[in-house]
Amino acid sequence: MTILRSTLSLMLLLTGLSVLAQEIPVIDWEELDKTSPWKATEQWEPVPQKVTPGFFTTPPSDAIILFDGRDLSQWHNPKYPYGVRMDHVKGILAAKAKDTEVFPPTWTVKDGTIIVKPGTGHLETNQAFGDVQLHIEWLAPVDEGKKDQGYSNSGVFFMGLYEVQILNSYENKTYPNGQAGSLYKQHIPLVNASRPPGEWQSYDIVFDAPEFHDDGQLKAPAYITVFHNGVLIQNHVELKGPCIYIGEPSYTQHPAKLPLLLQDHGNLVRYRNIWLREL
Ligand code: MG
Repeated sequence: MTILRSTLSLMLLLTGLSVLAQEIPVIDWEELDKTSPWKATEQWEPVPQKVTPGFFTTPPSDAIILFDGRDLSQWHNPKYPYGVRMDHVKGILAAKAKDTEVFPPTWTVKDGTIIVKPGTGHLETNQAFGDVQLHIEWLAPVDEGKKDQGYSNSGVFFMGLYEVQILNSYENKTYPNGQAGSLYKQHIPLVNASRPPGEWQSYDIVFDAPEFHDDGQLKAPAYITVFHNGVLIQNHVELKGPCIYIGEPSYTQHPAKLPLLLQDHGNLVRYRNIWLREL
């Protein structure tokens, strides 16, 4: 975990947080290591039952194709990462509202797939989205010696805030509200529909973005429905706010549309056949 947090700290620096130290709180991982506050939000029971999963789909005629095996023309590297605590989330949203600079995508395109390039930052869509139906295929590579949250971790962050976890959860113990298909640290999947590492898997997700009143008060929370390899694992669950690593989530006002973000968690997770439909 120390190595993981070092990687995260490096990623934060790489993505330019240091220049905005006044607005975005600096996460002191060494100090936090003494009390491990992230453990307070790990839920270890119940462990979802395993089922054997199904199929893939091809895009319908009205889909926006985000990746068809060729290039990253629909993507960039964001200047700011996602937030790990609520104060961090708020600082990043404020920074992004003032500074729209982004960078060319750094992830690798090979054999019709996108491969995370560890340590180079996250991948984010050029276009912003609100309510969507998303299809995405992913592969957790076989990675001997890795375990828990360190085994093929990535994530699909709707609006850069609300994460459906990507992880090898075939035979890899972790806290269930952080396993593949969880709404990270908020909702455990109904079942574990994971395929073994090294095999392609799919998510089909319906995301309802939250709505806010003009004064910033929450009008309607976000809801998510997730099919993992064709199996329903999240049934219109209500989110409590952004999916954060430390502390309790709550809603904070943000634009009605924001880019979709794929997480660089330091592992060589692959993606292919990514499309969505705006709802
Ligand atoms: Mg993740």
